[in-house]
Amino acid sequence: MPDRCCVTNCKSNYKSTKGVYVSVFKFPKDERLKSEWMRKIPRQDFEPSQRSVVCEKHFHDDCIIRYDEILRNGEICRFQRKNPKLKPGSIPTIFLDAHHIVRNQNQ
Ligand SMILES: [Zn+2]
Repeated sequence: MPDRCCVTNCKSNYKSTKGVYVSVFKFPKDERLKSEWMRKIPRQDFEPSQRSVVCEKHFHDDCIIRYDEILRNGEICRFQRKNPKLKPGSIPTIFLDAHHIVRNQNQ
């Protein structure tokens, strides 16, 4: 079972989705890119862990590589990837529930 999406209000891969799973992506190792992700993700005081993931719903389809293309006998063959991956430098930009951010009351 894929990990749960860390985005607030996103229920991807939670039990309630009844076995409907979406692809998830780990945070980038590149610190600059990672801070871009954190700026975009509408979640207060969030420090992603090694296991934190963001689901595919927050990325434009253009950012997601779903097929491998292999040149074989002069022809490009496309194979659907079991685990889609992100194009280098992709950042999550789609947050439908951004207006539901709950601010930390202790601040
Ligand atoms: Zn999500």
